[in-house]
This record gives sequence, C-alpha cells and structure tokens, in this order.
Amino acid sequence: MKIKRKYRWLCLVLALAVLAAGIGYLATRGDWWYYLELAVRSYPEPELTAAQLHESDCTEWTWEDLKGADGVTVSCLLMLVNASHPLPAGYEAELTEYNGAEMHPLMVEPYIALRDTVLAETGVRIYVADDYRTAEEQMEILESSEEGTAAAPGCSEHEAGLSLDVYAPYCAGKEFLKSAAGRMVNRVCGEYGFVIRYPLGKEEITGISYEPWHLRYVGEPHAEIMMNSGLTLEEYIQALTPEVWFAHGNYLILRTAADACRLPQGWERCEISEDNAGYRIVTLKMP
Ligand SMILES: [Zn+2]
Repeated sequence: MKIKRKYRWLCLVLALAVLAAGIGYLATRGDWWYYLELAVRSYPEPELTAAQLHESDCTEWTWEDLKGADGVTVSCLLMLVNASHPLPAGYEAELTEYNGAEMHPLMVEPYIALRDTVLAETGVRIYVADDYRTAEEQMEILESSEEGTAAAPGCSEHEAGLSLDVYAPYCAGKEFLKSAAGRMVNRVCGEYGFVIRYPLGKEEITGISYEPWHLRYVGEPHAEIMMNSGLTLEEYIQALTPEVWFAHGNYLILRTAADACRLPQGWERCEISEDNAGYRIVTLKMP
C-alpha cells in the first residue's frame, strides 16, 4: 500500500513536470502564437473614402509640367510586379547603396527607422539578407527553388530594387517569426511604408507562398492602408477605382489613365507612380 502511494506521487510530479515543460516550450514558440494571431484576425474594409473635390479649387496639370514642379516626386513605388505584370523590358531600377545593400533611394530612411525601432523595442537587430537582384541572379534563384517559392526573371520586385529580405540572428527565412524582432517587423512595417508582400492565406492572389521576411516598400499612406485591411498590392490597386479621388487622413489618392489631371490646390507633397497595370497613381499630402 505504501509503495502504491509513492508511485502515485511520482506520477503526479512527473505529470506536473511534463506540463511545466510544455508550457515553458509554448512560451518560447512566439511564432506559433503569431500564426494563431493571424488565423483569428479579422480585417476591416480599407480606410479609403471617395472624396468630392470642388472644381473651382483645382488646377489642371499636364504630366510634364507636374514632373518639374516643386514638391513632386516621380517614383515607381506602387508598381505591381508579379507573374502577369512583369517589369517593362529594359527597366532600370533606381538604386542607392546602404550598408552594402542596394535599394530604391526612397526606402533607405524608412528602413533605418524600422530597424532602429525594432532594435529599441526588442533588443534584436535585423539585417538585410537579399536586396536588389539582376535578372540573372533571379534566374539562378528560380532554378534552385521549389515551385511557387520564387518569381521568374522580370517578375520579381527585387529586380526593381523595391524589396528587401530581412532576418534576425539565427532566425532567417521561415524562422524569422521565431524572433520577437521578426514578429514586430510583421506587425509594424506598415507604419514605415513597408508591406509583407506575400501574406499568409493570399497565395492564390500573389502566386507566391507566405514570406514573412520579404518587405516591399510602397510608401505612405499606402502601406498602412494595405496592412491594416489585409490587402495585397494586387487587391489594393483594384480597390482604387480609376478616376476617383480617395481620401485617407491628410492624403488624397487618385489612380488615373488620363492625359492630364486636375489637382486640388495647396498640397504639401505630390508623389506620382506608374502602377505597371496601365495607370498612374497620384498621392497628395494635404496640410
Ligand atoms: Zn524576397
């Protein structure tokens, strides 16, 4: 009888030890919790309101005049690049080098700000594993990758210099979410103009499997709208009904195929980007 009671205690202690180890292990698997967070998250409609502009407050601009005006940036930040929207033949990416990585010049400061915020909050520094690629480098990656995990040459945003693959020490690729830094990048990148370009559950739209490490720069306010509403770039561009002005906070956005455009007066900043789908997207920062 005495022996039986002893075994009972032993079993109880063992069960508690297994339970404690299990809980301890779960606590270390932040990536599993993040996947759960993604699975239960519901996304609101994109924060875009159709805006009525008063004709009398608008000025007509030709694209040529607008490109030379003060406060105007012409970029490629909203270019859709995928299997059905390859880069135009002979496309030359606008590049600058930062810390050994080649990227679009407009991305450098936002990337530094994102990296430094993540470092300050998590104590972990993120690094760039992959930046601009030539078509030849993209071909090499395609040939050595599983189907559906890499784009064909001409169809990768890396060739436009608009994407960065990032990692945290000992946590690269799929392991990135095991790092608190990786999870934070995925949660806040929209505030810095970046999106997770190939999100979980959108593989049929993007044609690429989930890549929590692949950041695409689209700039403000587009990244925040896309990340908050769970839209891919394909879906976001589709949501911008052509020739309709949309308002988001202090921003006005127009997707247009017109030869000229009428802009409201008094804007602080104007950014124009081709979308590689037949339209230009005008983004105005209003006071
Ligand atoms: Zn990538």
